[in-house]
Amino acid sequence: MTPVPIIELRDVTKIYGSGLLQKNAPPALQDISLSIQADVPQILAVVGESGSGKTTLSSMIMGFLPPTEGAVLYRGKDLQKLSGRERVEFRRDVQAVFQDPFAVYNPFYKVDHVLSIPIKKFRLAKSKSESHELMEKALSAVGLRPDETLGRFPHQLSGGQRQRIIVARAILLTPKLIVADEPVSMVDASLRATILESLRSVNQKLRIPIVYITHDLATAYHVSDHIIVMYRGSVAEAGDVESVIKSPKHPYTQLLIDSIPWPDPDRRWGQERTAGPALKIAVDPQRGCKFAARCPYVMEICVDKPPPLFQTKGQHAATCYLHRDAPVIANEELGTLLEPA
Ligand code: SF4
Repeated sequence: MTPVPIIELRDVTKIYGSGLLQKNAPPALQDISLSIQADVPQILAVVGESGSGKTTLSSMIMGFLPPTEGAVLYRGKDLQKLSGRERVEFRRDVQAVFQDPFAVYNPFYKVDHVLSIPIKKFRLAKSKSESHELMEKALSAVGLRPDETLGRFPHQLSGGQRQRIIVARAILLTPKLIVADEPVSMVDASLRATILESLRSVNQKLRIPIVYITHDLATAYHVSDHIIVMYRGSVAEAGDVESVIKSPKHPYTQLLIDSIPWPDPDRRWGQERTAGPALKIAVDPQRGCKFAARCPYVMEICVDKPPPLFQTKGQHAATCYLHRDAPVIANEELGTLLEPA
């Protein structure tokens, strides 16, 4: 029997606003189904540009936003209907690492303070020495030296160290899932690798699955096992990361990949995928494929009805009629598709 996922999204749609405003607003997230199993140590990257819906997705997994339609379930129960005790369990099981590591700190307190809060709140230690031991263990797990970290003020540490302390704070609670929302976007490029390495190490050594939300396809490629590429609130493409990045099936993913300056000695200038001859087709943004107005391969069928998710090969699927000969997979099968083979 398949275990109950730690988090499941069932046909979730999110439209911001209310009343007439909501009626006319485009969905920030549309018909998304996804399930994440605890104890399956994979990193799932959710990638997309601004407006793709990835941050809405992360906020809904964290229970910060209710869906307009559909449901977000925690261990099979609607997140919006949890009892007080279940909500405390959820807050412990699902931890977040956010974009701005500085916003979490009070500049007047030593960094120990951010680590001591969850220890006190969840009564993780019976004494000061036990509390100190827990902090040291968590810091070591993310590659920080406790003697160089504890007792310092936030401004005495680098952005990378501050963010790794937030990862340490998350693992203090032995969570079942970490949602890392743009965790390296406000950190110097030189420090990004250390934060991503800490996340990877937490994922592997402590077997904690991670949902990594990012606009950066390159870091997603380096750190994740599976990837979902979002476009205007829908899944454009999903699959195992090697397959999606090395052999993208959706024209939007191809566009994103072509815009990255990969250090590939075999690739020459001007060798980017070039657009095919676009047909002169009138595109109605309310109908058909959401990418049609930008797509160089747009066909008549694309503007008629939205494409379903086609399973192009093994653990790889794309929402694109270019693959209409492949089998269609239902929305709710996406979670299964992205499970480690
Ligand atoms: Fe382009 Fe059509 Fe595929 Fe949409 S469905 S991405 S318009 S080819």
